[in-house]
Parts: sequence; C-alpha cells; structure tokens
Amino acid sequence: MAGLRIPDTPIAVDYWNIKQLPANCLFFLTHAHSDHLNGLSSSWSCPIYCTPTTAKLVELRRHVRSSLLVELEYDQSTIVYADGHGGRVPITVTAIDAHHCPGSAMFLFEGYFGTVLHTGDFRLHPLLLHHDLLSGRKAIDVVYIDNTYCHPSCVFPSREAAGDKVVKLVQSAMTDHEVFIGVPLFGKEDLLVMVAQKCRVWLSVSPNRMEILQVLQSPNVFTIDRDTTRVHVVLVNEITPQRVDKWIDQYGKVFVVMPTSRHCGVGSLPFNSHPNITIIPYSDHCSFSELKSFVTSVHPRSVRPNVSRCHGNMDYFSELLDHTPSEEYTIPLPIKTMLTCSESATSVPGRLRKRHSSLPTQRKRKSQGVEFDDQPHPSDAAVDSGNQLHPSSLYSHSDELYFQISRNHLSKIDGLGSASHDAWIMALNYFTNQPHPQINTNDWLQLLY
Ligand SMILES: [Zn+2]
Repeated sequence: MAGLRIPDTPIAVDYWNIKQLPANCLFFLTHAHSDHLNGLSSSWSCPIYCTPTTAKLVELRRHVRSSLLVELEYDQSTIVYADGHGGRVPITVTAIDAHHCPGSAMFLFEGYFGTVLHTGDFRLHPLLLHHDLLSGRKAIDVVYIDNTYCHPSCVFPSREAAGDKVVKLVQSAMTDHEVFIGVPLFGKEDLLVMVAQKCRVWLSVSPNRMEILQVLQSPNVFTIDRDTTRVHVVLVNEITPQRVDKWIDQYGKVFVVMPTSRHCGVGSLPFNSHPNITIIPYSDHCSFSELKSFVTSVHPRSVRPNVSRCHGNMDYFSELLDHTPSEEYTIPLPIKTMLTCSESATSVPGRLRKRHSSLPTQRKRKSQGVEFDDQPHPSDAAVDSGNQLHPSSLYSHSDELYFQISRNHLSKIDGLGSASHDAWIMALNYFTNQPHPQINTNDWLQLLY
C-alpha cells in the first residue's frame, strides 16, 4: 500500500517485505501509521532510520528492538552507507517534518542517483513552502509524493478550520449529550488536545490509546475512567449505525463526530442520513490544491506517486515541473552487483500471489517504475464471502486499515454479531495475507491498530 523501493538504489521506504529486496537494503520509516508498518514485527533484524518520536512509537506498536532504531533529527543531514558487494557507498539523508502526525517525516536523499524526495504522508504547512532544502535550490530529480488525495475532487478545509468546527460541535453537544469522537488509534492527538482544552473537558480514552499518549507526552487532558466525563474518544471503525443506536439506548442523547476526510472525492458520505453522526473533513493529508502548491514550490524534474492504490495520475503536475534534463548517473559497482544479485534471487514467480490462491484473480497493477508493497486493494477483486461482504462494501484508507460495511449490508447483518464477525475476519485475512481464524472481534481491532 504505502511502501516502495527507490529504483537503482538500495533505499526502501516504508517497505518491509525483505524477501523482495536486495540484501543490505537501507530501511527508512516515514511515520508510525499502521499501513506503513505492515511487515514489521518483533522479529525484525535490520536497522531502521526514523525520527525519535517514530522510533518510540514503532517500539511500542510493533515491538521492534530499540537497538535497531536509528534516530534522525529533523533538518540534520546524515551520511549513511550502503554496504554493497565489495564496497560502501555514501548516501546523504535529511528528515524534514511532514506535518502529518507526531514524528512524521519526509526524507530527502542525495547520492550517485541525484536528489530524491520521498514525502511520506504529509499535510502542507507554510514551513514546507519555505524550507531551504526544498525550494530555491538545485532541482530535485524525483519527488515521490503523497497522492492520497491527488484528484481535483479532493477539496477540504485547513486543519485549523475543520478543527474549530469540531470544537464548536463538541462544545454545544456536551451540555446534554454523550459525545463520541471517532479517530484512529494514533495521529489526531493535536486535535483531541485542542478539543479538550477549548471545551475544558476531560476526554476518556482506551488504555491502548493512553499508552500512546504517554509516549507522546501529551498534555494531561485524557483519562481512562469513562465515568468522569461525557466526551469519549473511540476508534473510528467502532462507529456503525448499530453501535450508535446501542449508545442511544444506553445514554439517551448521543452525538458522534468523525473528523476525517477519507470520504472526500468519493461522491457520498456514509451515515449522512443518521441524525446522530456528523463527519467533519479534518485531514492530515494535502488537498489537491495543496499538492499543486507544494510541487510548484519544490519545482522538481518529475513526480511519482508513493501510495500505490490511490489517485496515480501525475499529469496534473506536468506544467509545474523543471523540464531541464537530470544529470545521467552511473550506479556504483558495489550497488549494481547487489541489485543484480537480488533480482535473480527474487525472480521466483507467484511467491506472494500463492498465498491468495483462495481469492479470485487480482487486477495487475500498472508499473510505475517503483517497487510497491504488494498488498491487494479490496476493490481489485471480489471477496468471496457469500452474502456477507462485497467488494463495494469495503473501503480502505492510507492512514489505517479501515473497513466500512455499507449501510446496505449492515441492514442484512446483526451489528458485530457472529455473521458480521466472519465477514470481518475475511476482510482482515484479505488485507494481511495472514490466516487469523481464531481471533475474536476485539482481537482483530488490535491487529488493525
Ligand atoms: Zn499516515
């Protein structure tokens, strides 16, 4: 979904499928959202370059050994060495604040291949438009850009405007409603703190979320005691019409807000006829116009998508590029040998696909000249689930693995009872390629987050 190896280099960004990579790859992690961690676990054994905050989070969330986590401070260039066959090749890397979630980074790589920027997920911030390393410098050859919302239909307000709206809604509802805020387990802490401070209210959170908040040293506005407040933070995928109806039975007046832009450009909002649920387009990714502003400012020679299954049309940027040719480069022999060896070693066909043998044939992804993490997208193939799930009923987003059963399907199944449980398990298997036949509903939530 969100990982790739940069061509002609041993640089892997958010890509952990070690069997598909050359030996001695250099691994970089842009941030600690789940969809960028697929494949990382306690058994990981290679160094990972990331920011100090991301290092703490990945240690907590994936139990990666701390000795493997190499911290890169923002805006400090570091030389790392690729150990090729018979020699070491220097590569300079600089982490730049991506303003996406705590610890998130872009990586600027400089070496024999020229200059390459991988943005990871990011939201445009004025500092990015005036960053010394990104604009007014020698042209960047390639930008791998966060293409999550790279489509003209993806229009949404600034985080400040959307956040103010969330605050106002919570403020007016909390006087006589039980309030639920649906967000991913990690990444929207700034918004939550703002809500707590402006509404002068404690926010109840799960013990899991509290662990993350403590790692982030968030302000003391959260509690795990649900009874001390009427404003509760819940996982976004806990919110279903059935669940909300149960809350109404339990509490009486209920107000639910989902600060997310994931439905922008999709054409319709889920739950829009449920009177108790409000969606506010609060985004940690760039809108389409912000992407264009960023590319205009950086003025690179080329732009490629870094999220394989999102809007991949880069023609939108063609008029904004530097059309002078890149300098030709020669791949140093140690690296060339390393890459050649790995290609012959990993050319066994069907290695990954075999594990999907129970699924229908998947649509072949168009090559972008980039080696993406080869996770299937739900819309690429039907999920054989009898009458419980249909591909159109699954929706995923790059911030987290997120499943949404359409209201149409929810009407046919019983909340999160046994029937839908089977459907969720199929969805989970589909995304992770791992069989989890024994897990229960709570367990799969843990696996997803
Ligand atoms: Zn993210």
